Amino acid sequence: MGNCETLVVKSGGSGALTEWRCEFDRLAPELDVRDWDDPDVDPDAVSYALVWQPSPGRLAAFRHLRLIISAVAGVDHILADPDLPKHVPIMRMVTPETAERMADFVAMAALALIRQLPELMSAQRDGQWLAGLTGRIAADTTVGIMGLGRLGLHAALRLRAVGFRVAGWSRGRKIVQGVTTYAGPEDLPRFLAESQVLVNLLPDTSETAGIVNSKTIALLPAGASLINVGRGSHIVENALLDALDTHRLSNAIIDVHDVEPLAPSHAFWHHPRIIMTPHIASIASRASRAQLAASAIRAVREGKPVPFLFEPTRGY
Ligand code: NAP
Repeated sequence: MGNCETLVVKSGGSGALTEWRCEFDRLAPELDVRDWDDPDVDPDAVSYALVWQPSPGRLAAFRHLRLIISAVAGVDHILADPDLPKHVPIMRMVTPETAERMADFVAMAALALIRQLPELMSAQRDGQWLAGLTGRIAADTTVGIMGLGRLGLHAALRLRAVGFRVAGWSRGRKIVQGVTTYAGPEDLPRFLAESQVLVNLLPDTSETAGIVNSKTIALLPAGASLINVGRGSHIVENALLDALDTHRLSNAIIDVHDVEPLAPSHAFWHHPRIIMTPHIASIASRASRAQLAASAIRAVREGKPVPFLFEPTRGY
């Protein structure tokens, strides 16, 4: 392999390029690391692209591209490019830190919801002393995780360690010690009926879009809670707001949104039983992402299998 392959980076803005360069200088010094918008880049020299929300059409201009590396775990932001060169493999960014951070967030969120943290914060803002907001205990609560993949599985084990009962739902059947598992559309109603806290960790596909809707919410136990850390497209927002307003659902923590940043007028900002977070559940450090990217580039060069490849036929 030649020594002058170029990696273009679009992640964290041009301000982050120095940090990316530092990491790659250490891990893969032979790479020429350039900003995505660098006008001096020869498109034909670009072999790798590390990207978040690539500008449509730009990836197609790199005719010798060998690997597209998503800067995050999901690839929906890349698939949105209508000119995406479909023959180039895409790697999802799932570092050990990604799974750790997600497990921490989900455990924090599940505990916060069963202890009615959104209600307590709202009462504090209103100057109300609501000593009845004592919530419930983890040992009496089943958390249902939709999506038992890299992140869902790790979160399931963390929730078990915290003391929750845990159920999980995936496309294919799984056996996970200490976790009640369900698979496929036929199992969805039974899975939902158990899920007192529902966690969404599905990928964004044509099959999963809008999966949290008025019908599925109606199958949850009365007063259930919701944690959305998958994608905004999974939730029918009006159905969620209706369910909260009618107390069908108790409360929710919503990290991902249809339109990000969330519009200033959006109902999630000030809802008394929603905690809204700005898509921060699991953003791994640049150091850990550069490490995985560099090892994937090494695998491409050596003709070895690249981990965490997006599979177009299943859509995730
Ligand atoms: P993954 O390893 O690909 O796992 C996806 C899981 O979803 C698998 O268990 C899969 O089932 C299941 N699934 C997919 N389609 C399904 C369907 N139609 N019905 C039932 N189950 C289905 O993905 P991951 O790495 O865990 O990441 C999951 C998602 O988390 C990402 O796509 C991204 O949207 C989101 N995420 C969010 C943040 C954040 O900061 N908020 C950070 C990272 C990731 P099988 O196991 O049978 O294949």
